[in-house]
Amino acid sequence: MGIKEAMYYTRDGDTVRCFLCPHACVLKPEQTGRCSVRRNKGGVLYSLNYGEITACNVDPIEKKPLYHFYPGRPILSVGSFGCNLKCGFCQNHAIAHGTPGTVFVSPGDLVSRAMSVRDNIGIAYTYNEPSIWYEYVLDTARLARERVLKNVLVTNGYIGIKALEQLLPFIDALNIDIKAFSDDYYGSICSGRLSPVLDTVKAAAGCCHVEVTTLVVDELNSDTGQLESLAEWIAGVDKHIPIHLSRYYPAYQMDRPPTRLDTMAAAKEAVKKHLEYVYIGNVAGVDNNTYCPACDAKLVERRGHAARLLFDGKKCGDCGKPISMVV
Ligand code: SF4
Repeated sequence: MGIKEAMYYTRDGDTVRCFLCPHACVLKPEQTGRCSVRRNKGGVLYSLNYGEITACNVDPIEKKPLYHFYPGRPILSVGSFGCNLKCGFCQNHAIAHGTPGTVFVSPGDLVSRAMSVRDNIGIAYTYNEPSIWYEYVLDTARLARERVLKNVLVTNGYIGIKALEQLLPFIDALNIDIKAFSDDYYGSICSGRLSPVLDTVKAAAGCCHVEVTTLVVDELNSDTGQLESLAEWIAGVDKHIPIHLSRYYPAYQMDRPPTRLDTMAAAKEAVKKHLEYVYIGNVAGVDNNTYCPACDAKLVERRGHAARLLFDGKKCGDCGKPISMVV
């Protein structure tokens, strides 16, 4: 049930070239792409994880993390297996690079499940990388849109621009990982490149709600100058894009100690020079309320993943500054 002919490939005899993502794998028969979920079978490229679900939960939207998109609301969150990057610190390596158990759920059944969840805003494609689950996400997102559900991608942004442009009209919000503002980092830590991810941020920000996450790892990508450059680049796209600076903990192939708290504080200060909304992830007890960038009035109060809106969702009640938030 989970096998479907893939989109975005060309054939040359019985060899195929996949161009769903920037790796552009060339695959002979029986070879599988770097994502481990697209295989050449007899000259036809197949998606191996269509509808194959490894996790399905109702999560607060804050957990994605999205802080400026329907704060405090739940969203049905689903994931499959596979990933097209290989980050040494992967927090979800069991499903990204392992062979987990799955359950087949058709797009129609998933949308029905989403409709049955009380107060649910839609479906988040998350946990593993959704862009290499492409055909299923596209089919499901189309159906969900017909039912007025929101579609959210939590993604590494490592997708070909044509495939992205076909998907974006059905997507309402994205959290995009920018692992570091460094091509060397992408090459050595994640087995990818930076520029396609930046292209994804630009394309998505032109038509959807976008937030960015960067996992901060001491010494590897914590240089405040580099973080400032990242923030400056994001501000050039849209200074209202919220950024989540997430604290690294040892996982998968990386056993460095957790990122120091003073590093996280310095990272926040650096990024705040260019962006209006900066949040810290993976640090207990941190102040992650939303404050007005003009007068510092509290706009959204957060405790853990719970959120309470303290303004009308459009402008600051104290000073009248327009606030970039979808409520
Ligand atoms: S989606 Fe998979 S098979 Fe296709 S180019 Fe990317 S890594 Fe290779």
